[in-house]
Formats: sequence, C-alpha cells, structure tokens
Amino acid sequence: MAGKSDGRFDLIIVGSGPGGYVAAIRAAQLGLSVACVETEALGGVCLNVGCIPTKALLTSALVVNEVRDGEKHGIVSKDITFDLGPAQVRSREVADQMRKGVGHLFRKNKVTHLEGFGRLKGKGKVEVEEVEGNTRTIEAAHIILATGSRPRDLPVLGIDEDRIWSSSGALMQVEAPQTLLIVGAGAIGMEFADVYASFGTEVTVIEALDRILPLEDAEVSQLMERIYSKRGMEIHTGARFQNAEIGSNSVEVTFTDKKGESHTQVVDYVLSAVGRVPNSEDIGLDAAGVKVDDRGFILVDEVMRTNVPGVYAIGDVTGNQLLAHKATHEGIVCVEHIAGQGHGTVDYSNVPNCTYCHPEVASVGLTEEEARDKGYDVEIGKFPWIGVGRAVAAGHTEGFVKVIRDRKYSEILGAHIVGPHATELIAEFVVGRHLESTVEELEKAMHPHPTLSEGVSEAALAALGRAIHI
Ligand code: FAD
Repeated sequence: MAGKSDGRFDLIIVGSGPGGYVAAIRAAQLGLSVACVETEALGGVCLNVGCIPTKALLTSALVVNEVRDGEKHGIVSKDITFDLGPAQVRSREVADQMRKGVGHLFRKNKVTHLEGFGRLKGKGKVEVEEVEGNTRTIEAAHIILATGSRPRDLPVLGIDEDRIWSSSGALMQVEAPQTLLIVGAGAIGMEFADVYASFGTEVTVIEALDRILPLEDAEVSQLMERIYSKRGMEIHTGARFQNAEIGSNSVEVTFTDKKGESHTQVVDYVLSAVGRVPNSEDIGLDAAGVKVDDRGFILVDEVMRTNVPGVYAIGDVTGNQLLAHKATHEGIVCVEHIAGQGHGTVDYSNVPNCTYCHPEVASVGLTEEEARDKGYDVEIGKFPWIGVGRAVAAGHTEGFVKVIRDRKYSEILGAHIVGPHATELIAEFVVGRHLESTVEELEKAMHPHPTLSEGVSEAALAALGRAIHI
C-alpha cells in the first residue's frame, strides 16, 4: 500500500467523487501524502450513478432518435426495434471503466485508497470503519470532507427502487416500461424523460414550480416544454404531487394540476427526482463542532475551511450548485490553499449549468429576468440555429443561442443555449466571462466555418444589433 504505513498522512480526504478524487490527485502532485477513504466505488455519484452513466444512456437515446429519423439519411430498415437493455449494459461498462480509471490515477499519484466509512474522531483523526466491521484510526493535519449527496426521499413518495425509483434505480433498468411518471423537472428528471421517451415509454412529468428546468432562463424552459410536449410527453407544471399508492404491478399517482384539478394516473413506475440532500450525518460533525446550515450542508469559507481548524469540506456536501465541475474546482482551491499555493477562489457566478437532453440545454451567468432585476441596462441577442449552416446540415435546428449584454460595458451577463452540442459550446461563454471579455470580443474572434460555434458569434452580433444570417 502506498502512503505512510503508520496511518499518518498530510491529508485525509473522506469521499472519492469528483471533489474528493481530484483533490487527492492535486494534493499528491503538490507533494502531500494523501489517503482517500471511500465507502463505495471510487468516483462517487458522478462516475458511478450520475453524470457519466446518464450521458452514456443519453448518447444511446440520441442514436435511437437519429435512426428513427434515418430514412432521410438513407437508413432504410424494416421492423427495427429499440431495446434499452444493451444501452443499459453499455452505460454500466462506461461507468466501470471510469471507476477503474480513478484507481489507476490513485496508484500513479501514490494516493492511498482506504475502503471503508470515514468519520471525524477528534482533532486530526478519522476513524475508518471497514466493510468487515474492523475500525482503524488514521491521522492528518488536514482533513477534507467530500461525502457528497444522495437523492431526497419524500415521505409521501418513499423510494424503494422497485416501483418508486431514484435516479440510481432509473439507471439500472434493462427494459423501458410502458409508462413512467417523473416527479421533478430539473436536469435529472428531464434527462431521464428524454432517455425513456426515446426507448418508447409514455412519460408524464409533474413539476411543482411553474416551468420545467426552473433554474434556466424562462424562454429556455418554455421552448423545452414545447419540444418535449411535441415529442409526446405529458407535462404538468405548477402541479402538486399528492400520493402514490403502490399496487402489485403498478403505482396509482394522484396530483393536482396548476388549476387545482385533481388527476389520477396509473403507471408502471415512478421516478422521484425532487432534489438531493447532503451526506453530512454520521460523519462526526457534531462531536467535532463542525457547523452546518439548516438543510445539513456544511458551512465553509472561500477556501473551503469549516469553522474547525484543519477540517475542510468540498463538493455537494457544501451545497451551492450540486455539480461535478463545481466540486472539482472547490477541491483544487482547497488543496492549493492547504499547500500554500494560491489558486484563488471559486467563482460561483461563472458555473455552467448543463442538461444533456435533446436538444441540449446549457447556460452560464444571469438569466434575462435576473439581469433586469439587478438593474442592468440589458440588451438581448438571440440567434436561432436555423441561421447556422452546420446546424442545418446536421438536421438539428431546434433552439437558439441567447446572449444577455450589459449596454454600459458590453459585459457578457449571461448566455443560454438550447440546441446541438449546447453543453460544449457554453464553455466559450465561460472562458469569455472568466477573461472579462466584452460581447464585441466574442464576435471579433474568428470562428471556423461551418461550425456550430458560429451560433456563438452570431448571437454576440445579435446582442450588438447586427446579426448577419437572420
Ligand atoms: P459525490 O460524487 O456524491 O461522492 C461522494 C463520495 O463520498 C461517494 O462515493 C460516497 O460513497 C462517499 N462517501 C460518503 N460518505 C462517506 C463516508 N463517511 N466515508 C467514506 N466515503 C463516503 N453533475 C454535473 O456536473 N454534470 C452532470 O451531467 C451530472 N449529472 C448527474 C446525473 C445524475 C443522475 C445525478 C444523481 C447527479 C448528476 N450530477 C451531475 C451531479 C454530480 O454527480 C455531483 O454534483 C457530484 O458527483 C458531486 O461530487 P462530490 O465529490 O461532491 O460527491
């Protein structure tokens, strides 16, 4: 085993998600001896039951939809069938490959991987409860808690992974059911809606807020609701879930719609996608005196220090945006601070939001409503994909690129994309905002033709009142 054999390290990290494992590698690069304690699979939620396996399934869903629409590409095939089974198997293989990759990186960087459940046990100490029930105590001057989050389990919608699935249960199905009701229309709910609808399931989505993807710009939510409805999904926003009665082969769900009218639907399965809660119980926070907020998220400062000297926290367990890249950035800020190498802090106003459904949705910065509420003198540039040759050639013209510009300094206040490869293109705005570019600079930088990136420069031009191709 690499690391110190006497159980003393410079740094102990509890949890190996994208927060913990990246922090471990960066700390090792900086010369620290590091132990990473993990109770389940290396890679955390993201690699095993989150970002990566969902994207594998969404890739399969995209292929299915392309093939359904294949005749125009000359794919003529009779009696074609679509089967979730192989796609699910592939998604597990992809997750497995990524998990093994973390193990390899740990070995390469001499990070000690300790299997077991970690909890704070006095100053500079972590107790590790191993699978067989043995416990050992390891020590370090610095301890990072990176224990992540888990699905919120509503008492009226108890997750059993049989009839009522969490996102993890939804990832393990090898057959697309005939009917599925999804409670919650955030990114996770909408990604699974896309996957299951693509494989032939009749999908109903109910969302308590007044629009789907409620964190996105209102125009994005409206367009996505239209697109999903056109694909045959039944969507109820402003709806109140009331009850789920589990029968032997089905679930009877009652909810009220935005007009207050009651609906009852009998469906094969229900997916509960109503948010996530932090894994902050039972890790010794109380005894150590580490403060949490009223929802259990650990309170940290700008370099991820908790109120207890030597104890830090990163990733989902600290709240803010529950996203892998946010967790990773916090991990790097934290260990560079510990090693005395200033990386700066995390810019929470420049965290991109991505939903990998079809068409994809991505955004960064302020929504139009937020920009106006903050009192900016706003100018909006919106460019539809129908004006971009590459999008037309690819046959994916639904959606737009929307740029929100502050007239005074031409600052990029926000960017919102619905359309092909939106989740890749948003990075251009993230870099632009990071470098404090103006909207003019986005357009002056030459974009290759024909590419989807021309949608970015055209939207910048639109925000300046001079788009060319519309
Ligand atoms: P986690 O990934 O939750 O990892 C925490 C780890 O700590 C786990 O492995 C856990 O077993 C371990 N652990 C917990 N307690 C202990 C303990 N006491 N001792 C030892 N180990 C412990 N984010 C994106 O950015 N993009 C996406 O596309 C995306 N898609 C998602 C899809 C789904 C279905 C889900 C559920 C989430 C998705 N997310 C996505 C969110 C992303 O997965 C999380 O934000 C990210 O995993 C958080 O990383 P983390 O390191 O904080 O914790």
